[in-house]
Amino acid sequence: MKYSDRFRVIPGSTVRLDKIDAAFKDKDKDQASALDEVERYTKRLRELQYLLYAEGKRSLLIILQAMDAGGKDGTINHVLGNMNPQGVKVYGFKVPSAEEAAHDFLWRIHKAAPQRGQVAIFNRSHYEDVLVSRVHGFVPKKVWSKRYDLINDFEKSLADSGTHIIKFYLHISEEEQLRRFKKRLDDPARHWKISESDYEERKYWDDYTEAFQDALSRCSTGHAPWFVIPANHKWFRNLVVSQIVVETLESLKMEFPKPTVDIREVKEKYHKAEEEEAVKNGKKLKGKDRKKGRK
Ligand code: ATP
Ligand code: MG
Repeated sequence: MKYSDRFRVIPGSTVRLDKIDAAFKDKDKDQASALDEVERYTKRLRELQYLLYAEGKRSLLIILQAMDAGGKDGTINHVLGNMNPQGVKVYGFKVPSAEEAAHDFLWRIHKAAPQRGQVAIFNRSHYEDVLVSRVHGFVPKKVWSKRYDLINDFEKSLADSGTHIIKFYLHISEEEQLRRFKKRLDDPARHWKISESDYEERKYWDDYTEAFQDALSRCSTGHAPWFVIPANHKWFRNLVVSQIVVETLESLKMEFPKPTVDIREVKEKYHKAEEEEAVKNGKKLKGKDRKKGRK
């Protein structure tokens, strides 16, 4: 079974995260073989992205959400970062600025949506407005509860104008989060990643889980599916994400645009230019030779 089928949230289904093993890995895969596979996928990803860019007809939006230390940065680094930076933009959505907060919650998101030919990667997204905002009661229930439909409508309008959307929830267990926090503590090069709120937010694990379950259940659609990726094993996470992104791009059946010029005519022009160049060089050579002769 393809990972896209295995980990896709079927539209209309109810997600129970405690029933999904965050430490899952395929029996017949191991870290070493996965590394080779990921390399192949990322190479293909680069080719497909070039095609998307050349074709210039549609765009790709990849949304990453997770609990803290869930591996969003790592996924960008190891998988998505292999694309050509000319055609990719990464957006990290943090606490809204005063200007952003003074607009509707989709305002800052819509501005970052990818233009045709481009890929946008969202490190956090509009889903924060039904996650952190809900968990901490930044807005009342009557406000956040309407956002699921607003999000579905918004994503539909992007899809209708040629944006392909894939959304990954990187699923880690509570124990794995703590292990990763410890790793950050043990490694001075990771100290900058530690934030006071890490442990504060951890207390809300169950509330976040509930909020994620609702977002995953209510907003996985045919045009913008959610995938729940078992992410305790980073190598398995990278393998699954890279395979799904490649498969999504392959399914677009993209083609290089037809040349806007007559290639035969241009070939003739090229040969003519080549001949002229040879003649020019020949003359120069003769000139040099003449100088040499005078000395
Ligand atoms: P990450 O943990 O994703 O790598 P970070 O640690 O580099 O990000 P932080 O500033 O810690 O950066 O995380 C961004 C913070 O912004 C998160 O706590 C997130 O919940 C919060 N945030 C994002 N969008 C919103 C929003 N719409 N409303 C309120 N808070 C938000
Ligand atoms: Mg953080």
